[in-house]
Amino acid sequence: MSTYLIKDVELVNGEKVDIGIADGVITELSKKATKNYENVLDGSGCVALPGLVDLHTHLREPGREDAETVLTGTRAAARGGYTAVFAMANTDPVADTAGVVEQVVRLGKEAGWCEVFAVGAVTKDLAGESMAELGAMAHSAAQVRVFSDDGKCVSDSQMMRRALEYVRQFDGVVAQHAQDPKLTVNAQMNEGSVSARLGLRGWPAVAEEGIIARDVLLASHVKSRLHICHVSTAGSVDIIRWAKSRGIDVTAEVTPHHLLLSDELVESYDPKFKVNPPLRSNEDIAALRMGLADGTIDIVATDHAPHPAEDKECEWAGAANGMIGLETALSVVQKTMVDTGLLNWSQVADRMSITPAKIGRTKGQGIALAVGAPANICIYDPSKSKVVVAEEQISKSKNTPFVGIELPGEVRHVFFQGKPTMISTEMVAR
Ligand SMILES: [Zn+2]
Repeated sequence: MSTYLIKDVELVNGEKVDIGIADGVITELSKKATKNYENVLDGSGCVALPGLVDLHTHLREPGREDAETVLTGTRAAARGGYTAVFAMANTDPVADTAGVVEQVVRLGKEAGWCEVFAVGAVTKDLAGESMAELGAMAHSAAQVRVFSDDGKCVSDSQMMRRALEYVRQFDGVVAQHAQDPKLTVNAQMNEGSVSARLGLRGWPAVAEEGIIARDVLLASHVKSRLHICHVSTAGSVDIIRWAKSRGIDVTAEVTPHHLLLSDELVESYDPKFKVNPPLRSNEDIAALRMGLADGTIDIVATDHAPHPAEDKECEWAGAANGMIGLETALSVVQKTMVDTGLLNWSQVADRMSITPAKIGRTKGQGIALAVGAPANICIYDPSKSKVVVAEEQISKSKNTPFVGIELPGEVRHVFFQGKPTMISTEMVAR
């Protein structure tokens, strides 16, 4: 294995160091490196973060390889500074058995761009009717710890209770896509003044908040661990803040797009802004940013949701929900949270690497940079900036909502288990 030295890079505490990498680990972290390395990389002007960890990625394989594959999705992840992703279960077939979760993890290993953890479905075929083989998935080679019907809500209270009880056996967590199905039949966008003006059927905040309120109470009642996917409303932040103040074991995520984009964009009827949960109001965006800043919302997760052009480039009502986001996540977080003074780099490392790894119960990911730690590293230059171009995304699908928006920052070098996946913004062949 080749050895590398990254020179003159800033740690999250502002200290300027050289980082040495050999045999998969960080060998030096000092003002001036003393050992010899085969390759020397420039880190000046950059901040060094632990490799990012995404708790919520749709890799689409098996079943929708026209949208994304494990290989193309993890390559996009590496370009975004990620060294681990959790692949959501709504594939075809659904990841509701040991066989499918093991297949996804194996494909991730073969691709080699970052570590892939599989999320297991809560219910068979995501149908909400009978529990999936949670134990078999937990004890499989994939060692699943995160379970989610994401895309669909586990709306049946008794099913949710049983799932929360079941995952305690192996320290698992149920990640809920909070959406009351009855309140969101045919919903097209956030319910509010914009939906009223456009005459589109609304997706009310209460459809999310009602499920979160129920689920934190259920988690408290059975003393289990709950995670809330893609929180999108101010009321949800309030409920989670209340639950945490009561000691309830709940964690939550927000997506980059919900931190930046509002429902006013739907006035364009451009389906690139169609997503579930929908883009919300500016008041919601402000509350989400405050919630992420004060730790009520624990992490940023991308909900990277690739769709081929034919599923997005059609009229609003018929378009698929979802946006890609792995390659732009860190830049959006810089724009919305760092450049606004709400988070420092140490807190970004916490929200995008350390805590997501902890929630997913990983080993070897989300570890603060230190001598002897695994060399999973993202070297990021916050001084750069760039207007987003859809065709420049290396994800197989190009459905980014950030087209035409100038975003700060650029990922310069990425190391995964001691090997570079990107050097000087160029992907390194596996
Ligand atoms: Zn979802």
